[in-house]
Amino acid sequence: MDEEGPDCGKADFVLLDQVTMEDFMENLKLRFEKGRIYTYIGEVLVSVNPYQELPLYGPEAIAKYQGRELYERPPHLYAVANAAYRAMKRRSRDTCIVISGESGAGKTEASKHIMQYIAAVTNPSQRAEVERVKDVLLKSTCVLEAFGNARTNRNNNSSRFGKYMDINFDFKGDPVGGHIHSYLLEKVGPAAWGPGAGRTFWEVPGSEGAPSAPGLPHPLCPHHPGGSGRGPLRGARAQLPFSPQSRVLKQHVGERNFHAFYQVLRGCEDSQLEDLHLQRNPALYSFTRQGAGLNPLDSDERSHHQAVMEAMRVIGFSPEEVDSVRRILAAILHLGNIEFVEMEEGGLEQGHVAVAEEVLVDHVAELTATPRESVMRCLLSRTVASGGRELIEKGHTAAEASYARDACAKAVYQRLFEWVVNRINCVMEPRGRDPRRDGKDTVIGVLDIYGFEVFPVNSFEQFCINYCNEKLQQLFIQLILKQEQEEYEREGIAWQSVDYFNNATIVDLVERPHRGVLAMLDEACSAAGTITDRIFLQSLDTHHRHHAHYTSRQLCPTDKTMEFGRDFRIKHYAGDVTYSVEGFIDKNRDHLFQDFKRLLYNSSDPTLRAMWPDGQQDITEVTKRPLTAGTLFKNSMVALVENLASKEPFYVRCIKPNEDKVAAKLDEGHCRHQVEYLGLLENVRVRRAGFASRQPYPRFLLRYKMTCEYTWPNHLLGSDRAAASALLEQHGLQGDVAFGHTKLFIRSPQTLVTLEQSRARL
Ligand code: ATP
Ligand code: MG
Repeated sequence: MDEEGPDCGKADFVLLDQVTMEDFMENLKLRFEKGRIYTYIGEVLVSVNPYQELPLYGPEAIAKYQGRELYERPPHLYAVANAAYRAMKRRSRDTCIVISGESGAGKTEASKHIMQYIAAVTNPSQRAEVERVKDVLLKSTCVLEAFGNARTNRNNNSSRFGKYMDINFDFKGDPVGGHIHSYLLEKVGPAAWGPGAGRTFWEVPGSEGAPSAPGLPHPLCPHHPGGSGRGPLRGARAQLPFSPQSRVLKQHVGERNFHAFYQVLRGCEDSQLEDLHLQRNPALYSFTRQGAGLNPLDSDERSHHQAVMEAMRVIGFSPEEVDSVRRILAAILHLGNIEFVEMEEGGLEQGHVAVAEEVLVDHVAELTATPRESVMRCLLSRTVASGGRELIEKGHTAAEASYARDACAKAVYQRLFEWVVNRINCVMEPRGRDPRRDGKDTVIGVLDIYGFEVFPVNSFEQFCINYCNEKLQQLFIQLILKQEQEEYEREGIAWQSVDYFNNATIVDLVERPHRGVLAMLDEACSAAGTITDRIFLQSLDTHHRHHAHYTSRQLCPTDKTMEFGRDFRIKHYAGDVTYSVEGFIDKNRDHLFQDFKRLLYNSSDPTLRAMWPDGQQDITEVTKRPLTAGTLFKNSMVALVENLASKEPFYVRCIKPNEDKVAAKLDEGHCRHQVEYLGLLENVRVRRAGFASRQPYPRFLLRYKMTCEYTWPNHLLGSDRAAASALLEQHGLQGDVAFGHTKLFIRSPQTLVTLEQSRARL
């Protein structure tokens, strides 16, 4: 760290003279101005996005960090990657690197640097299978970005999904496989994919209502026994209050759809476009129109398209699969241009609605390899089972048909994305490994997931994302703060307790069974047609009126920043967020007519067919209530946190310096807010109250025993603790440490630096 020079501020916030926001910000700013974008808090790395290419990366820099201790070199992502890798390799510990921060803070770039570091330092013997795995790991990012990233107002390459990637290592420390989990692609929609997933129940009359016992008062609506208006075909229209919002369908002004659409339009050869019945101009398609003014250069789009095609080839997508993917993207674009017109009463066989431009239906049918009449039927009507098992075809209104079209387009894209992830996972599955022969794999997990979000209007998506951040903060508290305190107690170290805010009560408010917000939302969804968003809000008010972290206009009538009957507010650990309940029920249910599923399952394109395993069910069999988007998300978060908790964690906390995406500008107010909600000051306080490093005595001696005559080559001092004490005394460092039962606790990083220097001088 001394390489940095004295005028670059403190390389570790723990070394600040005082822990105040002013001191923290001053140090952050000073370092940023000097091009020092990385700073530690103990072993946590704080990173500020420089918005410019800095000469910090590449093979030379990697060599500087390889095999070094964290404190030997200036703070860097490579040092964290190296620490995680060494813990994994030396101590066979599963580790994980959790990268967090707001949109545009540099999470994805950080995860790429980490992957590049790992790729660079592994497989010195050039084993072919390991090289293949490394290629897939590196190339998978490019493919996932094409399908999962989009230009937003906050970030030109914003990841619209959360990503957790496990990398498996063999006993030599070489990558032999991996697995990717994706979370909530932009952002509504269950991430379930695979046999049995996503079954629907609500098409079947009688299943429209809650499956609770008849006669029981419905928890959300006491006036509705059983909570439902049951009966043949009832409630179909009432179930369609909102169009299913998603980036696939609609983008904010100045934003774009997922990159993949533009890459196909701009990057395909003329003949390929002709086969897809597409024209180059994204302004011609409803789903890509909004961002038309903001397109990057065509040449960029073309080169990205080529890079993605090449990456798909290297990963192992077959040419047929790549063709199918293109056709699916094209079908979605055509689907988006289909419009419906109301016909005179009895004018048409299918009902009272017709497709305005039928050639688009021809294109969709051709590209999805499904019969034209079936596509038409799915667009204009749906099948429902009446009373017993008899099937009835029910014509859509124009509004219902538009809803169904949008739901279909969104679901097709969702499945496509999940299929791509799944396909990459198949290729990365560790091959031919036998735990008895090869030993157990160790794992490094890398989490790149959206940070806390607050917009002028916050909806179900922000609610999910902020819940995710509460879960991760809870884990952070447990792992970094709580465990730290507990460890000192265990080791018999005098400890000055640090107050910290435990957010368990907020997590509980969201995820508690029965009365948590998500459970109550599920109840509202299962009572489809009878419960509105407003009633759902009333029910939240009733049950959480005394909760310290919940409020609404109803409960706080004087607070005009909330709208009556629409908003509720949660006091998150990071600040207050007001949510509008509009669309919560619909987004949580995230439904799609079974007819579409069946249509796509019966496609003669095997790739498309494989994305719809749930389409094989007959409508009369589709009786089980599907898991809602909120519950699926909650389950995936619980599993994620369990997984992370089982690993040794490393943290990268990313900060976005300004909203203008420009270099050399650090907006203090903006950064201060992020420092607050990332809990960085609290983190420094705990670190300072505590110790920068702790090491079991044998490990400490192994590393530094050569620096002391009493310990080299072996000590005769009775215990490792006594030997460590003698060593530190010789260096004059004994005042900066505490001796635990089994570990040595070192207060300041400077002590480590001194020890490292004397080791290096030998
Ligand atoms: P989102 O949550 O929207 O996905 P993110 O935190 O993943 O955001 P990135 O996409 O990693 O943000 O970074 C946004 C942009 O900032 C990058 O496209 C790049 O231009 C710039 N950037 C980030 N990190 C660095 C870096 N270390 N060096 C240079 N530029 C960077
Ligand atoms: Mg990202």
